[in-house]
Amino acid sequence: MKQQYKSYQEGCAFLEECVQKHPDLITVENIGTTWEDRPILLATISLHVAYANLKPALLYTGTAHAREWIGHELAINFIDYLLNNYENNPEIIETLTYNTLYIVPCLNPDGFEYSRKHFSFWRKNRRNNGDGTFGVDLNRNFSVGYRKSTNTAGNTYGGPHPFSEPETLAIKKFVDSHNNITIALDYHSQGNVFFPAHKFNHESEVEGTDMNTLCANMNYHINKVSGRKYGINRGKPPTKLISGSGREYYYEQGILAIVVEVGTRNIPDYIQNMSESVRENIPALRYALSEATNYKKTAPKRVENFHIESFTSNSCSIVWNYKENTNVYFEIYRNLNNKMACNHNSLIATTCNKNFIDENLESGTMYFYYIRAVHKLSKTKSPFAPKVKLKTLLGEAEFSRSIFPHASDVGYVAEKSPEANHGHFGVQSLKVGVSQGRGISYGIMTFDLSSIPTNAIILDAKVSLYPLNRVSAKIEKYGEWSLSIIDQDSISNIRDFEQVHNARHIKTIGTSIPSEKLTQGIWSHWDCNNFEKKIIQSQLKKQKMTLKLEGPTTLPVGRDSQIMVFDLGYGNGGGGLHYRPAIDIKYTIPSEDISISLQNSMTISPEDIIPDKMACGFNKNDEKIYAYMSFDLSKLPDPNESIITDAWIEISNTSTVKKTVDIRYNVEFVDLEEFSYQDIRERERIEFIGYEVSSAELGKKKKHHFIFDHYSKQALEEKQINGEEAKFVIHPTSVLCRDHLINWSHKGKKGAKLMINYIKRRKNPLPSVVNLKTKIENKLIKLTWDRVEDDDLVGYYVVRNRWHTPRNPFDGVKLYAGLDNYTFDNFGSTKMDKYFAVFTYDNVPNFSMPTTVEYKK
Ligand SMILES: [Zn+2]
Repeated sequence: MKQQYKSYQEGCAFLEECVQKHPDLITVENIGTTWEDRPILLATISLHVAYANLKPALLYTGTAHAREWIGHELAINFIDYLLNNYENNPEIIETLTYNTLYIVPCLNPDGFEYSRKHFSFWRKNRRNNGDGTFGVDLNRNFSVGYRKSTNTAGNTYGGPHPFSEPETLAIKKFVDSHNNITIALDYHSQGNVFFPAHKFNHESEVEGTDMNTLCANMNYHINKVSGRKYGINRGKPPTKLISGSGREYYYEQGILAIVVEVGTRNIPDYIQNMSESVRENIPALRYALSEATNYKKTAPKRVENFHIESFTSNSCSIVWNYKENTNVYFEIYRNLNNKMACNHNSLIATTCNKNFIDENLESGTMYFYYIRAVHKLSKTKSPFAPKVKLKTLLGEAEFSRSIFPHASDVGYVAEKSPEANHGHFGVQSLKVGVSQGRGISYGIMTFDLSSIPTNAIILDAKVSLYPLNRVSAKIEKYGEWSLSIIDQDSISNIRDFEQVHNARHIKTIGTSIPSEKLTQGIWSHWDCNNFEKKIIQSQLKKQKMTLKLEGPTTLPVGRDSQIMVFDLGYGNGGGGLHYRPAIDIKYTIPSEDISISLQNSMTISPEDIIPDKMACGFNKNDEKIYAYMSFDLSKLPDPNESIITDAWIEISNTSTVKKTVDIRYNVEFVDLEEFSYQDIRERERIEFIGYEVSSAELGKKKKHHFIFDHYSKQALEEKQINGEEAKFVIHPTSVLCRDHLINWSHKGKKGAKLMINYIKRRKNPLPSVVNLKTKIENKLIKLTWDRVEDDDLVGYYVVRNRWHTPRNPFDGVKLYAGLDNYTFDNFGSTKMDKYFAVFTYDNVPNFSMPTTVEYKK
């Protein structure tokens, strides 16, 4: 059988055939007639289709743009799949029992046929504009954000007025009269990217998490079929948004609305590419259809005020509100990156409580949390609460830096534009790969590492780049993009193509990303392994590091471009400073050590107390004899400015006991004021230090190490802060033996020592700011606060969250980091309620508790 693109006529005939074969499952109606008299067909698919309008529905629209043939082709294949598989697939039966599919395979039949028969690159419909030009861009002819234009010849001409076209008017009327539609997917090409709907402002929307997650979960299914990952992109500034699109019209009606851009060409090779695009989208569509029911009005309500209550370096406590409802439980999902799937792979808990404690997290690491309420009986789920972001605290001995290249240190150099390359830096988005026009094109960037000590030990390093646009990556599964550390001695001018081309690579870092996994709108990360961390460490001496980003360098016959565009964060092309390339480094520094000799020692038995002697064991009456030792902690560095990384007691025995019985000796960290035998027997133990040592071990070696655990190290610091000595008791554990004594060396080279390793690092955050206020200035929200006077202050960190008080600096949109005591919410709306938080931070950084303010419109 010939498996190539179907004509509109063939599509219509296919639908009629389906109705004849499955009359209880599918109906077809004509929702309008085009300028050239073609019917606009809409199929309704549901189990017991007569009741279809009573169920929550997914609306599918395809090929609104004439040349984007995927919409029509996918629709036909999806319908075919449902009708041929529902009988033997209980999941499809369940989906079609509770959900309805409304599907318009081709919203622009005239344009589609014109594209098929005459001009393959045609985009608009076929209205006669009366001035010698033809066509209106249907996806500019809806009412939301409609812009009037007189350029009738233009490819994006939006028509004389909103809904002037029979195609847009038909779908508008259908949507207006079907308020059971909860999800709308509009299929276009190309880019392999999801574009969720907008409300034309820079604030997050309450449905934002729903739409991103719906896309991410569809992505999961796409990935299973083809290994491909689509982008999810909703981040563009309002001025760049399209006007008058169907997506925004549907969204305005309360429908989750998403444009799906499939493939890397509008009309690709059918067998090689289109068939794969179709195959990968069918399970994704099936999933999306099953979600329609979760957005009906009678579904459980969305969880409210979902937020992090508290967190440490390895745990966090999440809380939320929900109106008392015994029929509901909650599903909690956790991901390590933004815009990842929330499904069985990321479900970490189900609970009926309104709080959850997550543990065993990594320090200094970002986590993304999601929650849904689920009805116990019907299993219908609620929409998602807005997601919560958390970066766990750093470990005690850890520091971190997020480093961005300066504007003048990042750009791309292309083979065929040697004169222009200089001007790309800090201005033009990074165009990386190969095209006929540019030749080979590299991204290049230098990071200033001077804020990291040259002797630092890198614990983690990750480079992140934001793929901005993949429209010029026009070849499916072709090429991979890799980042390499460049030998700085092999290059003197990063703006010179030849030099960049010939620069010596020290090492490619992380994993190269193949074209099908470069996701527009989702950060790409390159994680360094230990070897690569060591190389970065070696660059610290130079206080900078240069990275080269490269894609494919040759093109197949007849193809003109495989270029991926990454955001620069500077210039007008991208999303602004948030989207700069970044390297995140977690590091520690080598510890210094200090050895503290014994301050006091004594041996305490029932008979007497002998100073300057350490012995322990049993007397003839089976009574214990204790050795006591203490250390002066005043030589240790300021506990607020240092962290004890390791502590142990080193002690040698000078005698041994030959006994067949198993005698063991303990070192205890104690609180002890008086030294009578009675006092020492009733001593208050802080903790054991390390493990006991057996008499056999005492016989084998003379030097022993008793290691402090985490708790004991803290107790040691507490003693230091209080100006007290650290006191220890050694004694045997067994009581079965009488009359023996172990002597411990207390003086000289082999004398007992308290050994401490520490690093200089601030332990606690600075004070929080006070007097945080908002006011409107120059039509923007301005935040002001009082300065914190402290030499260790590195800056103030300001974050915005529309839904809840941010408790950590990463839970929301970063507005500012620096030393000013004011900032503006530059892109935010003054007409929306929201929360702001200001944190102070030092050079670790430790972040203070937030100072928060609620802004009311
Ligand atoms: Zn399109």
